This record gives sequence, structure tokens and C-alpha cells, in this order.
Amino acid sequence: MDSKPRIIVIDDEAIMRDGSSRILTKEDMDVVTAENGETGLALVKEAPDNYDVMLLDLMMPGMSGMEVMEHVKEIAPSILVIVVTGYATVDTAVEAMKKGAYDFIPKPFTPDQLRIVVHRALEKKALEEEAERLREAARKSLKDVAKEKSKTHTIINSMTDGVLVVDKDGTVALLNPAATRFLSVSAEEVIGKTIDEIKVDALSNAIKDVLEKDTENIVGVSQEIHLQTDGREIFLRCHAVPVRDEEGALLGGVTVLQDITQLKELERMKADFVAMVTHELRAPVAAIEQQLTVILKGLAGEINERQARMLGRAKERAKGLLDLVKDLLDLSKIEAGMQVQYMEPVDIGELLTKVVDLMQPQAQQKGLMLEFEIGKDLPSVNADATNMEGVFTNLISNAIKYTPEGGLVKVTGKKEGDYIRIDVQDTGIGISEKDLPRIFERFYRVKTEKTRQIVGTGLGLSIVKQVVDAHLGTIDVESVENQGTHFVVRLPIVLKK
Ligand code: ADP
Repeated sequence: MDSKPRIIVIDDEAIMRDGSSRILTKEDMDVVTAENGETGLALVKEAPDNYDVMLLDLMMPGMSGMEVMEHVKEIAPSILVIVVTGYATVDTAVEAMKKGAYDFIPKPFTPDQLRIVVHRALEKKALEEEAERLREAARKSLKDVAKEKSKTHTIINSMTDGVLVVDKDGTVALLNPAATRFLSVSAEEVIGKTIDEIKVDALSNAIKDVLEKDTENIVGVSQEIHLQTDGREIFLRCHAVPVRDEEGALLGGVTVLQDITQLKELERMKADFVAMVTHELRAPVAAIEQQLTVILKGLAGEINERQARMLGRAKERAKGLLDLVKDLLDLSKIEAGMQVQYMEPVDIGELLTKVVDLMQPQAQQKGLMLEFEIGKDLPSVNADATNMEGVFTNLISNAIKYTPEGGLVKVTGKKEGDYIRIDVQDTGIGISEKDLPRIFERFYRVKTEKTRQIVGTGLGLSIVKQVVDAHLGTIDVESVENQGTHFVVRLPIVLKK
């Protein structure tokens, strides 16, 4: 109770009213008195919340105490009623208690008796109020939880990305409508069942990876999955992450599914366009280069030195254009998945020997040493020979291109576990730490004073990477500026299907 306790005394005897009022006011209570039932009841009706305790004389002329109490119980049930009775009317007191009086005090009473009984009632009232406050708080927080839950539910359900939640044992716990649409399952079908029930292996594997490789440092698994649903092709990017509690214990996994079908289609259209344009460009540019060669050789008549110089430059530029077109064609063919299809056992030692031999004149011309060392009896790898030649031609020609005169380019091949490892190392200009992660990107070229004069398209390494990837191999690079660059290609000896 924040303010003073409020007591109403209803008694027809003035001496009782005044006495009680005096005693209780001294106890720091607000006391209101009424000389009969009607007046008292009127006061309560006026302000039902105004009183905490009522001292009520049962034996009054006019409206009886019992009647007053019955009304009070209706109008202001929170008022605790203490009935005041004479010894002769103990029976009535018992009846009053049965009807809801909180306590009774026999007349005549001492000031202490009155204080005790009123304090007891006030304590009970305070406890009741506290209990009610707690009940209200609990009701409110439950309401908040329910509200919060339904808010989250609504948000998840209205997301255009799919959301899939699994427990730590791989049981599906939640699937929003977008996810059910992408995966062509109904929530009822799979919730509570294992993730395999969705029957999309790539997805199950990604989620299991997240759950099983339960190490603190796994942040998530991202994967593109390709599905055929209702005769429609869809591409999803799925990103699965582990969910942990505050102590870091695994609770389960959340997977977000994004529909990237349109993006894929756009990419394909772009690639088709590049393929078409480059294809159409190749023939005319090749024709220009050929015609220029013929003229330069003097087969179309005498030309003077100046003309020869100019035509020579034109031919060089045409050749550069042709190289670019060739690179672009390779790239778009690889991206369309057309390139790596002639897998056969290839002797990498033999292939490397051929490539290095072909590159020797280029190295000599630049005043470089091109060294080659190959392990004995290397097992074959399953590969597309033309593409593999392209990979090493590219790496070695880069090494030559980006190594100044007097430098060394070293190519080695050996067996390393289940892989054949090929190293292409140079003592050239190197690549800065900033550029290194980007050199496999399409069209990425390092722009420095040293590379400015060196021609290139920035496509070579992106093709190299795609071919190596398509052979389930890996390519790594290390480089120190002004000291050199070291590429390592690893190709699996037995291709895993
Ligand atoms: P480019 O046609 O420009 O050579 P690449 O894709 O083959 O394109 O290589 C990308 C970039 O990586 C190059 O522009 C070059 O800056 C850098 N690079 C590649 N190989 C080497 C190397 N051996 N030494 C130094 N820089 C290299």
C-alpha cells in the first residue's frame, strides 16, 4: 500500500466511532466514520476503491450490519470487513464470517485489540495486493511472450527466402512457406522427421556438415543447389549455419534458401551473348590478321619500310584481339559446361615436357632460364589433355611474362599422396598481398608501373582455375613482391565421381 491505509467505521454509538477513529488515526491511518448502515454504504458506493478495511457494527437500528456487508461484498469486494459484535451475538459473528467477513472483534475491546485486528487485516490486504500484482505481471509477460512469438512467426512466414530449422539430431523443427514451395514438400510431411525426408541430398549434406562437423570455428556452409520441381528448374543458394546456446553447445541448424534462378538465367544469357559475339568476331579478325600477314610478306606487291612498320603494328593488334577472343571463347565454353568432356588418362609428365618445350623459345627470347624437373613414373590422371595443356601454358607463359630478364622459371611435377603436384615458380615481379586474392577473377589485372607494358586480358588465370576445378583439383598461389610467384596445382590421381 503506497498511501495511508483507509478505514471506514460504521457504528451507531458515537463513543465507539470516536474512540476507534482516535486509536487508528494515531496509527497513521485515514479514518472515515458513519453513524448507520445507509450512510456507510453510500460512502462506499461513492468511492468503492477508497477503503481498505471496514469496521462494521452488526447490531444497528435501521439497515443491519449483515445487510451492509452483503452489499459491500458486491460493490467493493476488496474491502476487508471486520465485524464488531457484542458477546451475546457471537453466533451472528460466525454467520457474518461465513458470509465473507474477514475477522471479528467483540465489544467492548481495548485499543490494543483493535490495533491488532486492524493491522492483521491490513497485512492480509497488502499480501493480497502483492499476489495480485505478481499474477498480473505474469499474465502480462506471458502475453508479451505470446505476442513476440507470433510476431516472429509472422515475419518468418512472410519471408520470401526459405527458412528451415533443424534440431541437433537433424530433425526438422520449422519450415516456412517459402521453403515448402522451393522444396515441394508440405510442412506436415517433414516437421518432426529427419532432414532426409525432404529428399534433396545436397541440402541434407550441407546441414549434416554443419551439425556433424561441430567445431566452434565452422561458421556455415554455403552451397548452390539445383532442383527440378513440377517440371520447373530452380536454383537455390542455401546457407546453413549452426545455432548454439550461450555456452556454445550446439542446438541445431538454421538454413536460409534463396531463389537464384533468375540470377542464373541472367548469367547464362550473358555468357551466351559473350559466346555469340566472340564467335562472330573470331572469323573476321582472323581474316584481317591473315591478310596483313600476306601483305607483310610482300605477296601482294612491294611495300616500303614505313608501311611495313605500320602494318606490322596493325597485325600485332589484330593478334592481340584474336587472343582475347580465344580466351573469351574458352571461358564461355567452360562456363557452359561444354569444355571438359574428353576425360581420358593423361600422362602429365609427357604433357608438361611438351608444354615446356614449346615455351622454351619464349623464355630464351626474354633472356630467362626455364628449368624443368619431373618425378619418375608418374601415374596418369583423368583429364582433358587440351585443357590441361592450356592450364600449364598459361601458368608458364605468365611466369615468363612477369619475370624480368635474367630470372628463372622452374616447373616441377611429382606425386604427393593421391595427387600429382605441379609447381610453377618464378623469380619475377611478384604480386602484392592486396592483389593476390583477386588474380583468379575474370578480367582482373594487377595495375602497377611494372605491369603496364605487359599485354594481357586478365582472363588466363580465371580459365586456369575453372579447368582445375572441373578436374576436381586445386590451385594455390604464394607470392612475394619483387621476389617471385609460386603456383601449385594438384590433380587427383583417381578421379572421385
Ligand atoms: P593476364 O592476361 O593479365 O596475364 P591472368 O589472368 O593470366 O591475366 O593473370 C591475372 C593477373 O595476375 C595478371 O595481370 C598479373 O598481374 C598477375 N599474375 C599472374 N601470374 C603472375 C606471375 N607469375 N607473376 C606476377 N604476376 C602474375
